[in-house]
Amino acid sequence: MDVQLPDGIKSEMGLVYDKAKIGEMTGQQQNYLMDIESLQSGLGYIDRILNDLILGFYSQDGSEYKGDKKEAIKKISISDVETLLIKIREATYGPIYYMKGACTNCGKVNDMKLDLSTLEITRSPDEVKGTNPELALPRSGKKAQLKLMTMDSMHKTFKIFRNPKAKAEIITTMAAMSLKSLDGKENPESDDLKPIPIMDINFINDEYKKLSGRIDTNITHQCKDCEQDFNNKLNVVDVNFFSLT
Ligand SMILES: [Zn+2]
Repeated sequence: MDVQLPDGIKSEMGLVYDKAKIGEMTGQQQNYLMDIESLQSGLGYIDRILNDLILGFYSQDGSEYKGDKKEAIKKISISDVETLLIKIREATYGPIYYMKGACTNCGKVNDMKLDLSTLEITRSPDEVKGTNPELALPRSGKKAQLKLMTMDSMHKTFKIFRNPKAKAEIITTMAAMSLKSLDGKENPESDDLKPIPIMDINFINDEYKKLSGRIDTNITHQCKDCEQDFNNKLNVVDVNFFSLT
């Protein structure tokens, strides 16, 4: 299956490879999903699925990326990873995915049917790919430099969500992960963002949206009980996402 990626990779020559060919899951990848010890230790199974099932990266005119595929997978964005996982599921079981979601108004658990092939993909502009835009933060006047969040950020996020104390710092942690530098410091951490005005953090998040493309995984559904609309986010790193529903 051919997949359009929101971001893709840029070669040293400046060529953009934002299409991928993927395969479907076989018994081999099913085994990764049954490896309880590995599943509990992190998102290693995502790396393994991607390394097995991404067959190649391509440019818009169809030329294949000749660089190291494993290294390329480390460089693609979180949005690319989400897109690839959704398309791998689609290639394996077809586009229809059944999920359950609790209504945020009344709490009723609803059965939802989703067509994965209709999720909207927004591509980042070619000119921002592979760049690290410099920002002047409007409130503090500090300088910051953005970077694309990759699989590495997903691994960190997974660990954060397991630790309730760290989870409370999700806003500053996510903003830190989207920065290459802050006020001259390379690879800032959550603590570095704590004294930064919230307006500056919002600015960082807004500017990041211009750097990264996305796949829309927010699902709006009308509750069958209270008839109000509620939003649910598709969780593509959940092991259950790769089961037949
Ligand atoms: Zn409801």
